[in-house]
Amino acid sequence: MSPVRFATAALLLAACPALPPGADGGSGGGLVMIGGGSGGGLAQPGDAGAGDDGGADAGADAGTIGKGPFDAGTNAPAGPSPGEVTYWQLELPPGVLPFPRSGEAAALVGPDGTLVLIDVGNSNHDDEVRAAVRELNTQWLTPARGYARPRAPLEVDWVILTHFHADHIGAFAPLTSGAEPLSITKGVIHRGFVDVGPATNASDFQDVCTALRGPLAAKNVGLCTASPESACSISVRAPASGCPGLLLGDLSRADDDAALEPTFLALGGGARLELLGAGAFARQGRAVVAGPSFGVTDTNEENGRSVVGLVSHGAFRLLFAGDLSGSGAAGEPDVESFIVASHATHFGGVGVDVAHANHHARKTSSNTAWVTAAAPSDGRARNVIAGINTAYVNSPHQETLDAWLMGDRLGGGRFVVTRRAPAAGTSPLLIDADGRVTLQTVERGDGYWLGARAFASVRR
Ligand SMILES: [Zn+2]
Repeated sequence: MSPVRFATAALLLAACPALPPGADGGSGGGLVMIGGGSGGGLAQPGDAGAGDDGGADAGADAGTIGKGPFDAGTNAPAGPSPGEVTYWQLELPPGVLPFPRSGEAAALVGPDGTLVLIDVGNSNHDDEVRAAVRELNTQWLTPARGYARPRAPLEVDWVILTHFHADHIGAFAPLTSGAEPLSITKGVIHRGFVDVGPATNASDFQDVCTALRGPLAAKNVGLCTASPESACSISVRAPASGCPGLLLGDLSRADDDAALEPTFLALGGGARLELLGAGAFARQGRAVVAGPSFGVTDTNEENGRSVVGLVSHGAFRLLFAGDLSGSGAAGEPDVESFIVASHATHFGGVGVDVAHANHHARKTSSNTAWVTAAAPSDGRARNVIAGINTAYVNSPHQETLDAWLMGDRLGGGRFVVTRRAPAAGTSPLLIDADGRVTLQTVERGDGYWLGARAFASVRR
């Protein structure tokens, strides 16, 4: 593991009226089998796409296309099962006055039951995140369901804080202290305590920083560095000098840290979560390169510093990047294009299966380079997931929906959100789950279920 540094947070789309019940568009959708040809037999064990056990780099872009008919079965799984990857985009209600709070968090489960939280929501969302962790550990990731060992009710292996805005880190303090703290076994990954700007929610950032420099210091995994690092308060900026945390190999092992391999979390069964970028740096081969420079006096470029990750399991790929910006407008530096250009081999010609929409599907993000790399218009079915609640007024933006949905980028896929916010865009392909969005691979990544719909992986 590597040392860490300091950062920032907040900007909140605060006060927004709650949406009247039933006022939003979209609906669940029936049980439909989409993508991947026509029926046919189940893939055989051992058939997982290339990359299942490949190197971190090569594994991300290999894959066998055209394996033939794919059959996900007839019923969506009710919860995680051994050998598969599960991703839950959690429902995080905005709460009540004085300020409805935006917030997003996701739980990722690996084939061996490794549990990763990707962001933890706002300061009022600890209950929802804790409940999801408890549900996973006590109802699903159990020996009775085929996992190797029982887990503590609040056990979490990794926490990734994509960036230091309050809607992503606000629940960290209540989740790691008090009467029911999470038990974090491996580490808390963040962009580093560097380049912390004034748009941060100072108290939330301070809580995270002081915890990771204090009682949780043994779990502190900061990716980017500076000398000296920032203080745990909004003070003098400490510009990042590099991001060595992107080249640590297996993040749970220290004996490979000098080999300059891409940093990844092992999820079991050959699945992994590789870190592609952080702090507006990206790995390029065995080097880490700084992206477009944006000043250390900025007021709201925290989004552009988001951690970028790619989950791979067999042929399956899931891309997430927090609130990464891409518009290039003031305060919205185009880091998306830089990440895409740095990782062309990962996207290859077929992109990914599922993309988490950056920044709650707002038009600051999902630029043309990003959506083209993730979802080329080739007729294959792909999906987009966004973590939204009604405090994110206008999310998903119509421009963002259009970016992903025009040109048949998603084939038979959908744009699925936890909750459509007031005054948001519309599309027949926008699905308002009004609740948790669930994704689970089948046949070790040959395909996946997203809610009640099944899809073949694009690399299959
Ligand atoms: Zn956010």
